[in-house]
Amino acid sequence: MKTHNFSIEFFPPKTEDGTQKLRATRAKLAELDPKYFSVTFGAGGTTQQGTLDTVVEIRKEGFDAAPHLSCVGGSKDSIRQILKTYQEHDIRRLVALRGDLPSGYGMGGEFRYANELVEFIRAETGDWFHIEVAAYPEMHPQAKSPQDDLNNFVRKVKAGANAAITQYFYNADAYFQFVENAHKAGVDVPIVAGVMPITNSSQLMRFSEMCGAEIPRWVRLKLASFGDDSASIKAFGLDVVTQMCERLLAGGAPGLHFYSLNQAAATTEIWKRLLA
Ligand SMILES: Cc1cc2nc3c(=O)[nH]c(=O)nc-3n(C[C@H](O)[C@H](O)[C@H](O)COP(=O)(O)OP(=O)(O)OC[C@H]3O[C@@H](n4cnc5c(N)ncnc54)[C@H](O)[C@@H]3O)c2cc1C
Repeated sequence: MKTHNFSIEFFPPKTEDGTQKLRATRAKLAELDPKYFSVTFGAGGTTQQGTLDTVVEIRKEGFDAAPHLSCVGGSKDSIRQILKTYQEHDIRRLVALRGDLPSGYGMGGEFRYANELVEFIRAETGDWFHIEVAAYPEMHPQAKSPQDDLNNFVRKVKAGANAAITQYFYNADAYFQFVENAHKAGVDVPIVAGVMPITNSSQLMRFSEMCGAEIPRWVRLKLASFGDDSASIKAFGLDVVTQMCERLLAGGAPGLHFYSLNQAAATTEIWKRLLA
């Protein structure tokens, strides 16, 4: 029985070198004994085989692993086929998403939103899968308003999700508010906090711009003041993120999901400090 509910996310490597590096990363992170690993899925099915191969490899190593599945651009037949393949591999856990197609691709496909995917998975496979969905404490960037986004989240959970994982954030209050509002709206599934370790300022700014995560002004200024002194950035990032995780856990977060970006060091250090 694990004493924590911590999970770790990877993206599927595209090259043999990336595959070898991920194996080494995983060997280090496996020592932390995560509840499960998850593996992202390129919208439009671009990483379909890589996602499956990585999940199968992790499961062979004795760990639970969840493929992500994004529906945007997909047909019912293509998603049905993927679900069947996952079932054939005895995969029991999924992270179900809409996904984002690169600009210029439009939406296409037979699914508009993740709630439709969750409904479809339940209709096709009953209770076979434990389904996680995404949540956005700072609002999904395309939502009309925080209330509208919350309503959409509630609809998605009611379609049959067992749990949710949030987009990363550096503002614990946004998380607590979101969870409280979700509970008031009748959501009773665990909402696990997504955690992005800070190791590289420019990469963090780029990702956050795309996904709508706010970097608090004081954190941004501090990071900028370190210039390219990556040791100081990493040390500061470890302190900020660990302190936020401590607050989240003390405030009742039911678990943490680490966006590892296929790197072991920062996740390991934060995790060790939390469980020390
Ligand atoms: C934990 C996590 C893992 C992720 N993994 C991946 C991955 O592996 N691959 C990938 O491509 N992307 C991934 N993403 C990114 C995600 O695909 C994007 O954030 C995407 O833009 C939204 O996906 P979603 O499942 O949250 O969509 P949805 O829940 O469908 O929401 C998308 C937008 O539509 C609105 N909306 C939802 N339902 C309705 C409705 N019925 N009517 C009107 N509006 C609605 C919502 O408010 C929101 O603004 C992940 C995100 C998170 C938080």
